[in-house]
Amino acid sequence: MTSSSTLGNFELTAVSDGIYQLDGGAFFGVVPKTLWEKKAKADANNHIPAGLNSVIVRTGDHIVLIETGIGNKMPDRLVKIYGQPAKLLDNLSAAGFSPEDFDIVINTHLHFDHCGWNTIRHGDNFIATFPKAKYYVQEGEWQHGRRQLERDAISYMSPNYDPLIASGQMQLLHGDQEIVPGISVKIFPGHTRHMQAVIIRSAGETACYISDLIPTTAHLDLTWVMAFDLFPLETIESRKEFYSHAIPEKWLTMFTHDPNVPWAYVEKDERGRMVARATHVAADASSARPSEKLGKIAKKN
Ligand SMILES: [Zn+2]
Repeated sequence: MTSSSTLGNFELTAVSDGIYQLDGGAFFGVVPKTLWEKKAKADANNHIPAGLNSVIVRTGDHIVLIETGIGNKMPDRLVKIYGQPAKLLDNLSAAGFSPEDFDIVINTHLHFDHCGWNTIRHGDNFIATFPKAKYYVQEGEWQHGRRQLERDAISYMSPNYDPLIASGQMQLLHGDQEIVPGISVKIFPGHTRHMQAVIIRSAGETACYISDLIPTTAHLDLTWVMAFDLFPLETIESRKEFYSHAIPEKWLTMFTHDPNVPWAYVEKDERGRMVARATHVAADASSARPSEKLGKIAKKN
């Protein structure tokens, strides 16, 4: 699935590394299955299909890739659990992009399902998949991965980032900052301490790649927090902070792991529940105002 849209003067393209499997209990934490199975159908093994959505932003001056999926170098024991679809490069190509096109790659954090295509195997070494790009992640996230703690060491695979730090291609950030004009990162703690969202602004419109703070449209409720999150109370506070801007300011919200909806607007319904309003193909595209152009989703693949 590839979706395209505009945001002000920028072009957005959602591309996927494919679908992988997550355990439903891990995905929805303390939420009972009787509630979450109304929103996400599990198979006989309690697996739920999860997306691996990356977003390309063309600003005119830069071509930016947000997140790089699960990649193609997972160890067998993890492939057995999660699968390894490895479709990102094919889908980039189908969308008209080659790895050399990108000058910026941003990882929201360094879990293996977010930075897997940062590098590819080259003999006994690992080299940048995107040879001309500068990569960005928070230094605190990298330091946490290096500690290899009992709880989450399995989530951090150093070949995805250490070779890039050694070569100088990956820059370690210290807090919120602008990467290039119109594209900035902001830390939303909860899933990890230093997970950063990517905020995209152009000509009065805003989009936010919110990553694992809200992994899918089934996770919009403040308390539907993944069991993976290290700091669930902070996830709830960070979601409140996010919604306090995203809802009144009509930010287009981008969901990393939603298998069907790469982006949508979050709204509060009349009962105060968070709902996702998907963007739709405009019935009459010629009369669409700029803000409505977001609704013109071209579907390929
Ligand atoms: Zn994660």
